[in-house]
Amino acid sequence: MTAIQTAKAPTAFDELGGSLRGGLLRPTSPGYDTARRIWNGVIDRRPACIARCAGVADVVEAVRYARDHDLEIAVRGGGHNVAGTAVCDDGVVIDLSAMRAVWADPARRTAWVQGGALWGDVDRETQAHGLATTGGIVGHTGVAGLTLGGGIGFLMRKHGLAVDNLLAAEVVTADGTIVQASADEHSDLFWALRGGGGNFGVVTSFRFSLHPVGPTVMAGPVFWAADDTTDVLRFYRDFAAEAPDELGSVVRVGTVPPLPVIPEDLHWRPAIAVACCYTGAVRDGERAVRALRRFGTPLVDLLAPTPYVAFQGGIDDTVLHGWHYYWKATNLAGFSDDAIAVIADHAYAAGSPRSCAVMFHLGGAVARVPHNTTAYAGRDVAHNIVIEAVWLPDESGEHAAAETTWARRFLHALQPHRAGGVYVNFLDSDDDSSRVREAYGDQIYRRLAEVKAKYDPDNAFHHNKNIQPV
Ligand SMILES: Cc1cc2nc3c(=O)[nH]c(=O)nc-3n(C[C@H](O)[C@H](O)[C@H](O)COP(=O)(O)OP(=O)(O)OC[C@H]3O[C@@H](n4cnc5c(N)ncnc54)[C@H](O)[C@@H]3O)c2cc1C
Repeated sequence: MTAIQTAKAPTAFDELGGSLRGGLLRPTSPGYDTARRIWNGVIDRRPACIARCAGVADVVEAVRYARDHDLEIAVRGGGHNVAGTAVCDDGVVIDLSAMRAVWADPARRTAWVQGGALWGDVDRETQAHGLATTGGIVGHTGVAGLTLGGGIGFLMRKHGLAVDNLLAAEVVTADGTIVQASADEHSDLFWALRGGGGNFGVVTSFRFSLHPVGPTVMAGPVFWAADDTTDVLRFYRDFAAEAPDELGSVVRVGTVPPLPVIPEDLHWRPAIAVACCYTGAVRDGERAVRALRRFGTPLVDLLAPTPYVAFQGGIDDTVLHGWHYYWKATNLAGFSDDAIAVIADHAYAAGSPRSCAVMFHLGGAVARVPHNTTAYAGRDVAHNIVIEAVWLPDESGEHAAAETTWARRFLHALQPHRAGGVYVNFLDSDDDSSRVREAYGDQIYRRLAEVKAKYDPDNAFHHNKNIQPV
């Protein structure tokens, strides 16, 4: 029995606990309450047990045990999904958070990454060799969930989505079999893993291709006052359309976060920010962002040569674990004047200074991969938006209702400006199965359902953005 397993009398779970190298947490175990909490503090579920997997063998044991005992399964990578699908009530959480190893191979320009690693882990280990791959914009987001949904980030316009850099994955399928998926082995599964989420098994490791990046890049945000939002977005519309692939950018509309690098008198002021990262020589990056920095009168301009790792972790403290979150998202048809007016009208109507809307600029290498090459469906979409309602744990009640209403109204107002589809990783728990279909479109959804029927015909992995097996 491991140190963290404290069952006093024999229980049905002893058998599983005894066979796990990483240990098993039951509701009475020390550490259970910490281990069941995830990034979104709204989620308060009580699994029957948490299998703290130390390796692929533990994952196999946990999957087989859950299947044999007909238990609900939830799979936890980084625990970052806003919908909270990483934990379930009563069932087994297959928790990979102890499996965070990253091995970069500079000669082959590849990295093996374990299924519980965070993007901060990957950036740190790969940048030790001056390499990187496309990951998310927050360092404490999990590699697994982000990659399996597609994976968007600052490097994507030059190097593709996270899934476009995925070379292989090791997967424990619903019957406890260990399978290698790549272009050459189980290629149907490999196709589905690249966008189809956690529907097909537990991914215990990923192999990514890497690219030379930095280690110093021209990167950072520029902030303007909220009153300038319409002008900034009209400028940004053309700036983004003409941007080279090397230039990744994200717009954030809300307030100035209280980061130590920002003068205190600006903290929490309503503001629009455009954050950029240029994936090439700093000199070229300076040229690429010059017009943006000269536009209007910025409140503060933090665009500067910056270590890539520091930039990638730069906003980690603005989205803390345990705060309460609720998201609404959609792909955008573009920044028409009318769409900009909706954004300017709604973005600052939230009650909480932490609530905001974030817009990613896609295109470039993302759009050059033919539709259907992977299960990620939004290749032709240039911009998306995620509306993030945030409130503090002690603010629930009225605050929660006000913030969630704000997010819903904002999305509703964007209705005429939506492109078909939504990024599946931005869906929240009240986005029903029709939105999962919307995320994929009919053709990709159908193909995913066929792969699901082959690898998980009983839909054992359904605690996710679920694909129903055909
Ligand atoms: C602050 C913040 C910033 C974000 N930024 C970005 C961004 O820049 N780009 C982007 O693309 N997305 C971003 N996202 C969304 C992110 O992609 C999803 O939240 C994603 O689910 C996080 O992955 P995770 O492993 O942490 O998730 P978890 O909550 O651990 O898991 C979510 C689901 O993924 C599946 N899953 C997790 N691990 C595994 C595994 N090892 N094997 C099989 N299935 C698994 C399961 O179905 C699970 O229910 C962000 C989210 C947050 C909260």
